Amino acid sequence: MQLHGKTALITGSTSGIGLGIAHTLAAAGANIILNGFGEVAQAKQALAPHGVRVLYHDADMADAEQIAAMMAWAGAEAGGVDILINNAGIQHTAPVAAFPVASWDAIIAVNLSSVFHTSRLALPMMQARGWGRIINIASVHGLVASKEKAAYVAAKHGVVGLTKVLALETAHAAITCNAICPGWVLTPLVQRQIDQRIAAGASPEAASAALLAEKQPSQQFVTPQQLGELALFLCSEGAAQVRGAAWNMDGGWLAQ
Ligand code: NAD
Repeated sequence: MQLHGKTALITGSTSGIGLGIAHTLAAAGANIILNGFGEVAQAKQALAPHGVRVLYHDADMADAEQIAAMMAWAGAEAGGVDILINNAGIQHTAPVAAFPVASWDAIIAVNLSSVFHTSRLALPMMQARGWGRIINIASVHGLVASKEKAAYVAAKHGVVGLTKVLALETAHAAITCNAICPGWVLTPLVQRQIDQRIAAGASPEAASAALLAEKQPSQQFVTPQQLGELALFLCSEGAAQVRGAAWNMDGGWLAQ
């Protein structure tokens, strides 16, 4: 129970990678603050067997005022945030000339600006407690590009840059900031991209296989559990000098 007594706030944790990381941190004893839309009761219920305190806040990560309200509430309700996992993210694919302006604005707000807002408000709580971990779920798209993902790639490169600034500004403290850069993970966000291929005529198996074959040499999806294990390591004392890293877990995507 290496995280017993710590509180982890995970944005966008009602499904996918965020919920997977919540499981791993809860199993290590951390109290959890969930956030996100959709199946909240189901997510809370799934974490119940870990026997830790599970709270939920419904702040929209596109809205700076709602983020500020969530962080103030976390301070009052949970006594502070020790571990901040910036995970909420959305996607839209289109070539730049056809990219809807509203989708650009929404992706930059949720995938990038929210990381600034949660971090700027979590840092004083971590500094007061003399310990902290900020882990930003970026993407391989924080390090390389793919076509038709202008806003996502720009936001994730921004997250990797912000991670480095945060790491430098906390370098003399027991507070670390790192990014995790996953390749393909089979979550609702990626299922929607597979569904687009199915709609274009591919079978479900062929659509998944084609998606993997284009980028991920292992031809296997990364799992939320594997990402949770990496996040847990970054929370450990063994990772105290891992600072400002952009750590890819991508089935070999970036090795090419
Ligand atoms: P997902 O769609 O399963 O989960 C996204 C979560 O974010 C959900 O809980 C959703 O409710 C929440 N969310 C969306 N908009 C929100 C908003 N405005 N405010 C609050 N919560 C909001 O997606 P996922 O694949 O688990 O993605 C999680 C993170 O991992 C994202 O940042 C994504 O970019 C990143 N990522 C995913 C993959 C992948 O292959 N799935 C790869 C690399 C990086």
